[in-house]
Amino acid sequence: MHPPKDKLERYCDKVLEGLQLTEVERHLAECEFCREYCQQYRHLADEIAKSDDAEIDFYGQKITAGIIAQLENGKIIPLFIISAPGISIPRQMAADGSPEEKDFMHSLITLGSEDPEIILRVMHDPKTNSDFLHLIGENAEQTANVLVQIPEIGREFLTDTNGRAPIDTPLTDIDKLKWQIKLPSAVFELEKIEYDAEKVESSSRTVLTSDRDDKIEIVFERKMSGAQINIRVLEIEGRAAEGTIRAVVAQKDAFDSRLLKPNQAAVFDITDPKEAIKIRLFA
Ligand SMILES: [Zn+2]
Repeated sequence: MHPPKDKLERYCDKVLEGLQLTEVERHLAECEFCREYCQQYRHLADEIAKSDDAEIDFYGQKITAGIIAQLENGKIIPLFIISAPGISIPRQMAADGSPEEKDFMHSLITLGSEDPEIILRVMHDPKTNSDFLHLIGENAEQTANVLVQIPEIGREFLTDTNGRAPIDTPLTDIDKLKWQIKLPSAVFELEKIEYDAEKVESSSRTVLTSDRDDKIEIVFERKMSGAQINIRVLEIEGRAAEGTIRAVVAQKDAFDSRLLKPNQAAVFDITDPKEAIKIRLFA
């Protein structure tokens, strides 16, 4: 649980004492979300001290107001800019209290949504001269294997189990783009698949239905070369699947993704037969 917003703000204003102070400090050491909030609150406080422009209030007032929302199927979460190049933010301190060195990995832009509480960072790693996305949230379901989209330029990124995704082609004008997160329309979880390793070839077919009437057909195939599952989307919310659907199959830290046309099946390799399989659909 995050500390209440007013407590965090009193911490930022340096008026917390004793046990309350220790509590908040301990939480901040572990919670990137609240660190981000404090950083942004201080920035806001500075800005407000400098001017009485009421518009600046908008984001700071709302960001922690949202209660952690349940995962909503297929929900699109618009992201707002929290800090970007040109907006001066207080320098972040390293763990030992020294200012961060500029050749360290750093954030090019930070975006967020208030409900659910999610932070998206576009990071630059000077060592590899590459950029990547990092989603940070309270709930792994909201950050693992979700789509981060920029519809206006047709780009989308699929995060790994740690909420990260590489940016292969660098983005320009990142602070002018409209970013959003798309949560899966349906999630299926399969226990590890038991099969007879002695038997070289086998195949079994199952139809799975989610509690929302999403229906998929799964064919498990064991071949000489290894095990695979074929996935075909039959229905989304009780209706025949229309348009292209992205199917993501994840096992522990590994995942694979395919775009499926109606009635088309996609084949995914089972990387580890001892691991459960998560199937996520983005309709
Ligand atoms: Zn927190």
